[in-house]
Amino acid sequence: MKGMELTQDVIEKLEGYKLPQSLGFGRELAPIMYRADYKDETWHMGQIIPFSELRINPAATSVQFGQQCFEGMKAYNWANSSPHLFRPEFNFSRFKRSASRLCMPPVTPEIFADALSKLTMALENFIPNQSGQSLYLRPTLLGLDHTFAVQSSDTYCFILLASPSDAYFTKSIKVMIEREDSRAANGGTGSVKVGGNYASSLRATKRCNEAGFDQPLWLDAATHHNIEELSGMNFMALINGELHTPELSDTILAGGTRSSLLQIAHRMGIKTVERVMPITGLLKDIERGVCTEIFACGTAAIICPIQEIGEEKGAKMPLLDVNKMSLTFKESLLDIQEGHGDDPFGWTISADDPDQLYSRFLCE
Ligand SMILES: *Cc1c(COP(=O)(O)O)cnc(C)c1O
Repeated sequence: MKGMELTQDVIEKLEGYKLPQSLGFGRELAPIMYRADYKDETWHMGQIIPFSELRINPAATSVQFGQQCFEGMKAYNWANSSPHLFRPEFNFSRFKRSASRLCMPPVTPEIFADALSKLTMALENFIPNQSGQSLYLRPTLLGLDHTFAVQSSDTYCFILLASPSDAYFTKSIKVMIEREDSRAANGGTGSVKVGGNYASSLRATKRCNEAGFDQPLWLDAATHHNIEELSGMNFMALINGELHTPELSDTILAGGTRSSLLQIAHRMGIKTVERVMPITGLLKDIERGVCTEIFACGTAAIICPIQEIGEEKGAKMPLLDVNKMSLTFKESLLDIQEGHGDDPFGWTISADDPDQLYSRFLCE
């Protein structure tokens, strides 16, 4: 890659690194990472460094008050080409929104492009190449100032971590309709990717696991009538051959996978419907056989078919077709992401040119 200079300690880390036999999702961490810092009211260009634990003040705003946000994206191993990223401008623009929501300075397009390009290219030989596998990338922004007063930090660090990974879920899942806890409330942080959202989801996940399910299905906090999404994935249903999904609001995370699937379905001639989706209506549609398939989607899991939906203590309903259309959607999406088919939407971009990435981020 042009202009790529790695320090000796980084080169040594890479030389000593080998991919393990079994990867899993987000378990294996690459031996190097990228770090940039914000101080004196400005971002300073970062660099690739060996992976290490962070030295952070235990009273830092990220540690004490959750002044933290992150992204989840992937680099794909393309045969006979450099690794490619998928809609990285989507993640850049959401990362900016998440940062702003928590009064953090968004990282600049230059730094985001530099980090993604350099880290991906340095790890080029460690991106697994089976379909569904990838280099999972985790941009993270942390407040560093120490204070016990609730206030925004003046200093931050931006970290880009990488994890050679399999898909998150490799089989279909069972979801439990969550009737008690809420993931997100109006005016809160549900539509941005901040750590606190996930901490607050853990209790329901634990209860749902104890009841024999894999993931809770969140309903809206105000009425507990309408479907929102899963803890890290958006929700979709095939009803009468149409693709239905809850319409976006300030309590739903606007997923890139959701957006991509809506466009892919539309191009396949399938009608797409974004609407308020009452849980009672969906259960009726499943019962009557009108809704044949439901699934979750997100970068990590790609598409995850749902084989059963039910109550913590009560009825459980199996789905008619677990894998039919969702598999078609998954293949269409993977064909684009992994460079097997054409890319009619112009979503993929090579990681080898930071300037080209930068120009995509500038428009966001
Ligand atoms: C990340 C995430 C998604 C999926 O977003 P993608 O951009 O498709 O990865 C959906 N819901 C929640 C709550 C998320 O955190």
